[in-house]
Amino acid sequence: MKSGVYKLNCPYCPAFYIGQTSRSLETRYKEHIAFFRKNIQEKSAFADHIIGHNHVMNREKPKSEVNLEDLNFNDCVELINQCSNKNSNIDFLESFYIAKQEGNKYCLNRCKGPCESSLVELAAQIN
Ligand SMILES: [Zn+2]
Repeated sequence: MKSGVYKLNCPYCPAFYIGQTSRSLETRYKEHIAFFRKNIQEKSAFADHIIGHNHVMNREKPKSEVNLEDLNFNDCVELINQCSNKNSNIDFLESFYIAKQEGNKYCLNRCKGPCESSLVELAAQIN
């Protein structure tokens, strides 16, 4: 069971979302899928992007019939920093990876993560 900081990549364009989970990636991914299915765009910036741009595999389908099985887990999910549990620096790492994307228009994250601070931003610039 892999957990940590992950990237959700849009299969159709360079857009991506950075998140973290202390549970398995598959579980977190399924939650994003559920948000997508229910059209709860506010709760998932990734779902918002996919729905808003109709960036699904079968673009002929109307939005109401879009099946997220059209998005393949292995095509979308990328583990960028594996963390075994909550005791690791997962919150810091999430904010760090988001901060590294500063100015990248393809980054879908709407907030800077749980450890937003000037120190994290400085660390991201140095690395
Ligand atoms: Zn896209």
